[in-house]
Amino acid sequence: MGMTYNYKCKSCGYEISSAPPNTLDRGFVSIFRAELCNDCKEVVQVLKDLDRSSVRYKPEFEEKCKFLICPRCEGTNLNKWEGKCPKCGKGMKKVNTDKIWD
Ligand SMILES: [Zn+2]
Ligand SMILES: [Zn+2]
Repeated sequence: MGMTYNYKCKSCGYEISSAPPNTLDRGFVSIFRAELCNDCKEVVQVLKDLDRSSVRYKPEFEEKCKFLICPRCEGTNLNKWEGKCPKCGKGMKKVNTDKIWD
C-alpha cells in the first residue's frame, strides 16, 4: 500500500503531495518513486516499475505504462528527489499524511 504525505518548504511556501524521498512507493502493482523533474521544476511521482509477482498484474500493463517519465511534461530529465525544495533548494518538511492508496 502506498502512502503520500504533504511536504512544505518553510522558506518559499512551495507545497507538494509526495511519497517520502528515497523510498519506493508500492501499490498492488505499480511501484512509484518521487523524482525531481528538471524540466518543470516539480517533484513528481514517477512510475518506476511493476510488481510482476502481484496477483493483479497483467502483461498488457507493460505496453500501457510509461516508465520513468514525468507525468506533467512527459520529460525524462529526472533526478531522484532527495527531499529538497525544487524552487529554492531548501529542505522540505513533512506536514501530514495526505492519503493512503492502493
Ligand atoms: Zn522552497
Ligand atoms: Zn516535468
